Amino acid sequence: MEIEENNFNEKCGVVGIYLNSQNKASTLAYYSLWALQHRGQESSGITSATKQNFFHHTGLGLVAHAYDEKDIKNLKGNIAIGHNRYSTSGASNLKHAQPIYKSDNEISLAHNGNIPDTKYLKQTLRNAGITYYDLNDSELLHKVIRHKYVKSKNLVKSILQTLENIKGVYSIVVMNKKSLIAARDSYGIRPLSIGKLADGFVVASETCVFETIGAKFIRGINPGEIVQIKNGEITSYNFAEPNLKIDVFEYIYFARPDSVIQGVSVYSARKKMGEYLALENKDIKADIVVPIPDSSIPASIGYSHKSNTPFEMALMKNRYIHRTFIKPTQKDRENSVSLKLNPISKVIKNKHVALIDDSIVRGTTSKKIIEIVRKYGAKKVSFLVSSPPVKYPDFYGINTPSSKELISANNTVEQTKKIIGADNLRFLSFDGLFKSIGLKVSNLNTSCLTGIYPVSVPALKTKKVRVKKTHQ
Ligand code: AMP
Repeated sequence: MEIEENNFNEKCGVVGIYLNSQNKASTLAYYSLWALQHRGQESSGITSATKQNFFHHTGLGLVAHAYDEKDIKNLKGNIAIGHNRYSTSGASNLKHAQPIYKSDNEISLAHNGNIPDTKYLKQTLRNAGITYYDLNDSELLHKVIRHKYVKSKNLVKSILQTLENIKGVYSIVVMNKKSLIAARDSYGIRPLSIGKLADGFVVASETCVFETIGAKFIRGINPGEIVQIKNGEITSYNFAEPNLKIDVFEYIYFARPDSVIQGVSVYSARKKMGEYLALENKDIKADIVVPIPDSSIPASIGYSHKSNTPFEMALMKNRYIHRTFIKPTQKDRENSVSLKLNPISKVIKNKHVALIDDSIVRGTTSKKIIEIVRKYGAKKVSFLVSSPPVKYPDFYGINTPSSKELISANNTVEQTKKIIGADNLRFLSFDGLFKSIGLKVSNLNTSCLTGIYPVSVPALKTKKVRVKKTHQ
C-alpha cells in the first residue's frame, strides 16, 4: 500500500448531544456510540462539558471495552460529542482516537470523512506560527478552527471561515462549553441527521441512534450546512451550494439496515438490490440462497422472494470476532474468515447454493467461503453480489486504497470467477443498483465503482497511487 496511513481518515461514526437542563449528555452519547459500533471498532471517545469545564475520555477497541461506569460518570455536563473510529491498519493506538481535545477548555471536534487536500489548513497554521507536525487531517481541522476561535470567540464564524476554504469529505460535530455545532460538506458524502430529544437535541451519523436513545428524527443536515444548537435553539447557516453526492457504499455495505439516509431506508434499498439481482440473473436456478452474514441478509431475502429460491441461514457467524477485513496480512484475513463463519453442512450438502454477498473487494471472503461451502458438500456454488464490481480505490473511507488489491480492478468477471472458485459469478448492474436506492444517479458518490471522484484527491495526481482504468 503506497498511501501513508495517517493522511487518510476513515468511515467513522459521530454523535452530538445537547440537553437543555440535564447533566447527563455523556450517557446518551455512550448509548449512541453502541448504536454506531458498526461504523468503527478501533477506538471510541467522548468529550463533554459543563458551563465551566471540559471532560474527555478515549479508549481502544469496542465501546464495550473503551469505557467503564466511572468513565461515563466523570464525563459531566449537558453537552457531549462522541466518536467511534474505524481504522484501516492493523496497528491499534490511541494517538488518533477522537473526539479531538487538547486540554485547553476551548473546543472539541469529531470527524467522519477525509480531507485529502490539507494545503489550506497547513498554510493557516504556518502563517500563525503554529506547528502541525504529525497531525492527521482531522487534527489539522481541529487546530485551525481552534486557532480562529481563540482569536474571534465566535465558534460558528471560525467553522464557517475554515470550511469555506477546504475541499473534503466531512460530517463533523464540534462543541464548546455553550453550544453544539454540526456540519456536512457540500457533497454530503457521509450522512448526518438531527433528532429531537425530550430535553434537547441529538446529531448523529445514522438515524438508528434516534430509536436507541428515544429521539425523534427531525431532518438530515443539508450538504453545505452548519447547524448550531445553543440556548435550546437551532440555527442554520449555509456555507456552500449543496450538491448532494451521498456515498453509494453507505447503502451497499456500511450503514445499519435500520437507518434511513436521505429519506431512503437502507434495509429496503438492500432488499431491492437482491430483487434486481434475481431479475437480472433468471438463468441461475439454485436450490437454496444463503447470505454471507450480516450485511447481505436483506439482499438475500429480496433475492429469495423474487426468484422463489428458499432462504437458508446456512452460514453461522461468530459475532464475537471482529475486523476480519482489516487483518494486516492476506493469510491472517483468510484464517479469520474460517473463524468467523461456520457452515451448517446438513443444509448445504448436495445443493446448488447461491451465496449472496454485498460486495467483493479483495476477493478474500468469497474465495474462502466458496472453499468452505464446497468442503461441506455443496454440489454447485453460484456467487451473487448485490453491487457492481469495486474497481477503484476509495479515498473517502473504505479500506481499499490501492487498486493493486482490488480483485475486480485487475481481472474480468470471468477471471474473478476462476480465482474465487465459483461456478457462476454475477454482479448487480449499475441500473439495478440505482433503481434499488431510488435517488438520482447525480446525487450519489460512486467513486469506488466508477473512478469518478467528486472531491479531488491530490494523491491521485502523484505517482504514489495509480488508478488503473479497466473495463468501465
Ligand atoms: P473481500 O473479502 O476483500 O472481497 O471483502 C468483501 C467483504 O468485506 C464482503 O463480505 C463485504 O461485506 C465486506 N466489506 C465491504 N466493504 C467493507 C469495508 N469497508 N469494511 C469492512 N468490510 C467490508
